[in-house]
Parts: sequence; structure tokens; C-alpha cells
Amino acid sequence: MNRLSQHAQMALAIKLIVFGVRTSIVQLHTGISAPILRALYREINNGEAPVSGQMAESDGVVSTRQDVIEASLFLNLYVHVGTETVFRTINIDALIRAYGLFLEFRAEAGLVAVPKIGPTEAWILVRDLRIRDLSLRSCECGCTYAVVHKHRLLPRCPACGADNEPAINSSEGATRVGRPTSIVSSARAFFADEADRSSKPLSFRSVSTIANPS
Ligand SMILES: [Zn+2]
Repeated sequence: MNRLSQHAQMALAIKLIVFGVRTSIVQLHTGISAPILRALYREINNGEAPVSGQMAESDGVVSTRQDVIEASLFLNLYVHVGTETVFRTINIDALIRAYGLFLEFRAEAGLVAVPKIGPTEAWILVRDLRIRDLSLRSCECGCTYAVVHKHRLLPRCPACGADNEPAINSSEGATRVGRPTSIVSSARAFFADEADRSSKPLSFRSVSTIANPS
């Protein structure tokens, strides 16, 4: 590797560590060894050691109706920022920008609780969107929402409850997802509505029903 690309890899590693993803993710994107990344992490985070242990899967990240809304909001922003590239690759710049917008939206909506979707969880969602473990579905109500395939969550629209097909996972999908306005207004309404309610787990049904909806 020449000096310029070494430099670029290190710059990317710093960007990802500052953003806040696990060092295993940084390693995946940069190829820099774990010991070097751990040292870099400590340097950036005032001597603090990086978090270790197993990462959550997207079915763990998205398990309640509020999670679906939040994941959908984030992914709508991500697809909006990254356009069709996000279905081919993990777009790091789009991930970081969309996550910033996601936090801004939550702050505007008056949500003070720490989001369940942190930088690492956001990365898990964009990875699973790319490998098609997760897809976005359009609803007639205008909402575009996330469905985690292996989760057996009932893939209903979190805004109106409709059961929608098909999944969006293509460059054509990017233009349809393009405007995050509807999920933003759905999320706004949901958060206002949900303020004094606890988030309830969604209904489940068998994987085969989700794979072959009637
Ligand atoms: Zn709907």
C-alpha cells in the first residue's frame, strides 16, 4: 500500500472512531490491525478503552414499534443522502451525515432519551440494507419503513398499520425513498402520541408468512 492510501485509511479510521462505531467495524473498513485501532481509539477518547463484545443484529436493534419508526427515519435519511449507492456499498459519508440529521430530528422532536440506534447500530442497519437482510417498504399512506427479514416482525406500516408489498431494495427504490418527509411527519406524530406510552413490542408471525404474504 502506498503512503497516500495508508494516509487515507488512517483518516477514515479516525473519522469512524470519532463518529463512534465499534473498532471491529473500523477494522473492516480500513484493514488497520486491531491493536493499532485500539491504541488510536484510546488516543482519541482520552485513554478510554474501546467497547468489546458481540454486536447486536438488526433484529435486536429493531424490536418495538418505536424502534421501527426510529430505524425507518434514520434509513430514509441515509438513502436520501446516499442515493442509490447505498444498495451497492456501505456509504460511510452518507451514514455519518444521515446519523447527524437523525439526531437533529430527535432533538427537534423533543426526544431527550439516548437513542437505541447509536452509531454502531446505525452501521448495522445500513449493512443489513445492503446485504438485503433488511428492506424498506412503501405504504400508500406515504410512509416508507424498515422491515427486518429474519425478525418475524409483522411487516406492517408503523404509521397506518397496512401490510405492504413489495420490498424496496434497488436504485429505483432510492428515488422512491428519496423524500424522507412522510416518515418524518409520521415519526413526529408518533413521538407526540407515544410520549406518555411505553413502547410496545410488535406482533409476530411466522417467517414463511412474511416471505410469502397472502
Ligand atoms: Zn402506512
